[in-house]
Amino acid sequence: MSQKPRVRFAPSPTGYLHVGGARTALFNWLYARHTGGTFVLRVEDTDDKRNTEEAVQVIYDGLRWLGLDWDEGPLVGGERGPYFQSQRNAIYERYLEQLRAAGHLYEDGGAVRFRSPRQTVQVVDIVCGTIDFDLSNPETHPDMTIRRPDGSWIFHFVNVVDDIEMGITHVIRGEDHLSNTPKHVELYNAFGVRPPIFAHIPLILKKDGKGKMSKRDEGSAVASYITDGYAPEAVRNYLCLLGWSPKDNREKIDIAEVVQLFDLDKINRGNAAFDLEKCAWLSGEYFREMDPARFRELGREALVRAGVDLARFDAAYVDAALDTCRGKVRLLKELPAYAGFYFRDERIMDEAARTKFLTPEALPRLAAMREALGALTTFDAAAIEGVLKPLAAQYGVKLGAFLQPLRVAVTGSAAGPSLYHLLEILGRERVLRLCADV
Ligand code: GLU
Repeated sequence: MSQKPRVRFAPSPTGYLHVGGARTALFNWLYARHTGGTFVLRVEDTDDKRNTEEAVQVIYDGLRWLGLDWDEGPLVGGERGPYFQSQRNAIYERYLEQLRAAGHLYEDGGAVRFRSPRQTVQVVDIVCGTIDFDLSNPETHPDMTIRRPDGSWIFHFVNVVDDIEMGITHVIRGEDHLSNTPKHVELYNAFGVRPPIFAHIPLILKKDGKGKMSKRDEGSAVASYITDGYAPEAVRNYLCLLGWSPKDNREKIDIAEVVQLFDLDKINRGNAAFDLEKCAWLSGEYFREMDPARFRELGREALVRAGVDLARFDAAYVDAALDTCRGKVRLLKELPAYAGFYFRDERIMDEAARTKFLTPEALPRLAAMREALGALTTFDAAAIEGVLKPLAAQYGVKLGAFLQPLRVAVTGSAAGPSLYHLLEILGRERVLRLCADV
């Protein structure tokens, strides 16, 4: 029986998790889950000047938020650890000696370098195909350094040693590493180990397709999705589509189905252009279909984070208010503006909305609506609708236009949750008071 795949995500802790990195983690995770293999998290922290607890935490937080659980690695352990390169020095020393004994190394000004066999190296890649790299010219391909004079290790060496030691069968990573791969293959050959299967995934470009997504581009850091309050499932779904697709134009696709359909030979070769708008749209769709209890919980957190004092209100009131926002906001950061009126004593009037809708001819209609609402014995959405619709007809005004002054009077805004429902939630007394005060 062939061995189950072992894949890894090997980020360097820079204090920042790029969407490209998250997508790499996701594709590794998908492949592990698709095949019943193992997903390893390895922290490539050899560059210890910039490595801090916080920087590692950013990686954990991002992966956890996206629901990408790892089977081996920091916090969860495993048999092939330690999972921080900074703790694997003894292993690297051992491998270094092996290369030295076989005559592959030489010293050069205190640095340890690997003597290239100067051959053409063939890289077999599931996504990019088979590529021959001619490494015969030392001018264009100088011997790689393995260890710096200060004793620190160079990425290529420790990366390959760890992949060997951790039994990695498939290296799935960004295409920016494709050009490093022939060097890695030279090292595998020198160790007498068969290289893993490579799958270099296409780069993520800016929306206009011009250039790689960089740190400065909006949406490039996973942390920004967390603070902006995207639905995590939506971001994960969106990242799935950056280099992979279900081939039937579907954009919203459940992760269980992606796990089932995903495979390395289905990864696109072309680069993927990043579209934050689409990601935001998906977020709204996921919120719409989300379990109401979970949406309420996320909504509460977002409102409290924005400084809304929810403790003053009944839990049932807050729940009802948040229910009217589900399917209406795309990002949770929109909630304070969208639903803040529920939680304020003083109305904040949007002056443009006032000028547009609380016009001299609208005011008598508003007064009529107020009177009709005041006469209701049951103040619920159905009863409210039941009384306002005929009133609009009586005035011969289109329903939407007829109701707009009421919305503005009550919420201070021309846009918001379903009017009948929000009126019910606010309650008769508050509604009548707000309508009288315009
Ligand atoms: N630490 C490398 C990076 O973050 C890992 C590359 C790899 O996956 O082999 O780019």
